[in-house]
Amino acid sequence: MTVHDPLAPDRSGLAASLDVKLHNLDLAGRLALAAELGHAVFTTSLGIEDQVITAAIGTHRLPIEVSTLDTGRLFAQTSDLITETEERYGLSIRRFRPEQDDVDAYAAKYGANGFYESVEARHACCHVRKLVPLAKALAGADVWITGLRRGQSGNRAATPFAEYDVERNLLKINPLADWDIETICAHVAAEDIPVNALHARGYPSIGCEPCTRAIKPGEPERAGRWWWENDEKRECGLHVPDNAAQQIPQASQIAR
Ligand code: SF4
Repeated sequence: MTVHDPLAPDRSGLAASLDVKLHNLDLAGRLALAAELGHAVFTTSLGIEDQVITAAIGTHRLPIEVSTLDTGRLFAQTSDLITETEERYGLSIRRFRPEQDDVDAYAAKYGANGFYESVEARHACCHVRKLVPLAKALAGADVWITGLRRGQSGNRAATPFAEYDVERNLLKINPLADWDIETICAHVAAEDIPVNALHARGYPSIGCEPCTRAIKPGEPERAGRWWWENDEKRECGLHVPDNAAQQIPQASQIAR
């Protein structure tokens, strides 16, 4: 449940003014400004836009912690890219993993791959493997930096540069909100940034292996994520409020 925070309007106002400032800066400037706001954590999925951000953090030696959610169901190519990226930019990417007890409880209730059976079961898996580790990754953070872009899906079309995350009580900065995929690819080529080998095989958006497929020509970037679900706004819960339409079960609600 969200605790009423009397300072929330101030933080929302700060986010609104930051949104204007960030608009006028380049990527390095946006990240530097985010780092000035307090303890900043960037959570990377190792996707192509996230690699652009990690490269900027490493190249400019910015004081931003880089973390990833190692769900235990990642593609081998993604795991390999974590190591390659660390070596390339001389930084350490913190891995946050699910609790084994939670994973076991999920498997006992839904089956190890129960996420194919219902939206509830899928959200429960994302909760255990992503949301709980995310909470640990963001513990103590003032600023959460993400690779969200408006062009990724209709659900993300209004992504601002800065917003106040009420549920997590921190500022959320999306420095690539206005970058389209063509700009991302051109930047990656120009800077020789390492990217996931799966992008070249038709995977523009890469999550867990059992929940990601290649897309067909003309499909939206995120069409390969949880493709068996019909909801156009499907997400894993990382970037939607807890009290939004998606009701994601708490780990404690999963029967052992
Ligand atoms: S993306 Fe799939 S495997 Fe990964 S946490 Fe969500 S439901 Fe589980």
